[in-house]
Amino acid sequence: MKHLLGFFAALALLLCTANAPALAQPNPPPVAVKKVAEGLYFFFDYAGSNSVFLVTNDGVLVIDTRQHPRAGHELIGEIRKITDKPIRFVINSHFHGDHTFGNAAFQAAGAQFIAQKETPKIMQKVQAKEMARRQDYFKSHNYDPNEVKLILPQITFDKSMTLWLGGREVRLMYLGPGQQDGDTFVYFPHAHALFTPGSFATRNIPNMAFTTSVDSWINLLDRVAAMKDVDVILPAHGDLATQADVKEFSAMLRDIYTTVKADADKGVSLADAQRTLTFPQYRNWRNYGRIKDEIGSLYELIKTGKRSYFE
Ligand SMILES: [Zn+2]
Repeated sequence: MKHLLGFFAALALLLCTANAPALAQPNPPPVAVKKVAEGLYFFFDYAGSNSVFLVTNDGVLVIDTRQHPRAGHELIGEIRKITDKPIRFVINSHFHGDHTFGNAAFQAAGAQFIAQKETPKIMQKVQAKEMARRQDYFKSHNYDPNEVKLILPQITFDKSMTLWLGGREVRLMYLGPGQQDGDTFVYFPHAHALFTPGSFATRNIPNMAFTTSVDSWINLLDRVAAMKDVDVILPAHGDLATQADVKEFSAMLRDIYTTVKADADKGVSLADAQRTLTFPQYRNWRNYGRIKDEIGSLYELIKTGKRSYFE
């Protein structure tokens, strides 16, 4: 543990999983707030991105701020239906704009922002690209892109950090590169609940343009699937899930990566791999429609070791 918060705390190019056609679910379920345990709430937005909030006597902690300050304000409105306690902390679970572009609303509310140490660096670097790939979302919601401000986390950690708020323990964990560097998992011991960032979503083909190591990604998923005292998974996308769902996702990632890597290592051209590797076993998964792009992303990583999104 590199940092321990003193004082009151010693106490979400291409689309992310949001926005892309929800092939497996043509009629997405409505936005809902689900109570997971005492004081712990899951803000479920299937078509967009999820958030989580913990309500305590000493204030509120929020994970992820949605995709625009106005969407962030809506989330604050939901929190205010439950408590008038101050919003003290926001965790940005990863750099994607669909999890950080609501930050301005929470800054105005007085929150402090926390992230793994790579996340603010990446946020700074790719702000323009993140804005560019979310213009359709802004248009469809009638949101003014100019209201989005780059608000960086002020508190960072390396491997883990424990926060105490109102007698509740919150454990932040960095298990290595997943869907991207900085992917932060958050465990709530009182609820036996684990928040997962972009690294996992039930029966979803993830965007693979950001990962710096698929081996690390698979490894961390296996660790998450084997963690003790986890009764429920609170994912950044999709509905409440279980460790069995994480296991299934991990098996898919291993399957796709191993298959694509075998072709790349044999010298099969990208065009041929994209034509012949159709992975029909996942045709009913969300975002299956972008499988060719994901094969391209894996080829880039396997052949060059580069991630062009960050260049
Ligand atoms: Zn996302």
